[in-house]
Amino acid sequence: METRFFNPKIEKLSPSELRVLQFKKLKTVLRRVYQKVPFYREKLKEAGINLSKIKTLSDLKELPFTTKEDLFVDYPFGLLAEPLEKVVRLHTSSGTTGKPKAIFFSKKDIWAQAELIARALVMTGSTSQDILQNSMTYGLFTGALVMHYGAELLGMLVIPAGPGNTERQIELMRTFGTTCVHMTPSYALYVATVIQGKGLKPGVDIKLKRAYLGAEPYSEETRRKIEEMLKVDVYNCYGLSEMGGPGVAFECQFKKGLHLWEDAFIAEIIDPKTGMPVKPGEVGELVLTTLNRTAMPLIRYRTRDLTYAFEEPCPCGRTHIKIARIIGRADDMFIVRGVNIFPQQIEAVLMGIKGVAQNYQIILEGLDEMIVKVEIDRDFFDGRIERLLKLRDEITEKLKAVIQVRPKVELVEPGTLPVSEGKAKRVIDRRTL
Ligand code: ADP
Ligand code: ZN
Repeated sequence: METRFFNPKIEKLSPSELRVLQFKKLKTVLRRVYQKVPFYREKLKEAGINLSKIKTLSDLKELPFTTKEDLFVDYPFGLLAEPLEKVVRLHTSSGTTGKPKAIFFSKKDIWAQAELIARALVMTGSTSQDILQNSMTYGLFTGALVMHYGAELLGMLVIPAGPGNTERQIELMRTFGTTCVHMTPSYALYVATVIQGKGLKPGVDIKLKRAYLGAEPYSEETRRKIEEMLKVDVYNCYGLSEMGGPGVAFECQFKKGLHLWEDAFIAEIIDPKTGMPVKPGEVGELVLTTLNRTAMPLIRYRTRDLTYAFEEPCPCGRTHIKIARIIGRADDMFIVRGVNIFPQQIEAVLMGIKGVAQNYQIILEGLDEMIVKVEIDRDFFDGRIERLLKLRDEITEKLKAVIQVRPKVELVEPGTLPVSEGKAKRVIDRRTL
């Protein structure tokens, strides 16, 4: 497999060179937030931290975390490390608290993040000859605009399609010969189903080569399903507004974990309960420190995303560590009859079963009842009840084996459940508990 690099010098730095670079940048960031952000100055003082005592990278552990809640202290401008005149863009993310998180970018931040995207696109085999249809939501959400700038930096032709209007999406793909798409996995499943339904042949009528899918957790099974339906390579892209949007970590052509750009972030994996680092390879919460962001640097930011890190070197030649696909968001976990469940566990089971179509929904109601509504292939509704019941039992048993709870499974026709064009809302909790 031929490997090309956008910034080979940085992408191939030896691990020890990377650590030296990280430490140098960390010291600068700490000095800046101490001088320029009263919130951090107070926080560091309160924790009794003397910056001159930070002598190695591992001293980072001594510093306090920044939480999602902290983003609302002195809201909205309180965490700025630059005067407003240096700030050129605002993005927000929905968050869970009601008030949107406000994330600011300087010019430097915009182009630094664009470079991370450009590196990632090259890493998956894209070049300036590719045509990217960007079907994420343009606007306050980072997903579309940040990818847009990165793809332009690489020199791709970008079609700023935005999400939705699936007929038009497919028309654009056909007219302009789109080779790459960027969208959420849930929308990709839907688009793939519509393409199939129209009898269009991937590879012939639609010339997609790669799909960049992110913004929400998904499983290997879903990846495989989309790859088969669209005859594309699916690459997982991870990011969050607080860290500049997409481009934080991205899969290379080997698709075994996502390289996290360590010249731009310091990654730690911690036990969310104790705040202590987990053992290498263990699952925990990803904590990130920004090394390049100038408008709004964040120290030890708790992402609430669960993953684990890889130690082994990657055959692609990049030295930056890899993280596993996000196992779940701490915010998404729900509890049924005392058992912790992530929607992604259910998705992985469903997408691995033949006959299951692209959409599903989890409904929690009554005292502690769990209903899983699953769209299945249309030909199952041909009147052969036995076959339908067999499929329902298979789904129920396989779910029970994985989540330890026996859900009530309802099979519905394709197109019944709400389609999401952006991030999917999989769980509806109407419990009276
Ligand atoms: P929010 O969804 O909290 O409003 P963002 O729009 O910034 O905020 O989305 C960032 C979050 O989306 C991440 O923290 C993570 O939970 C999720 N996410 C983004 N990319 C991926 C991915 N490739 N896999 C799993 N989850 C992802
Ligand atoms: Zn790699």
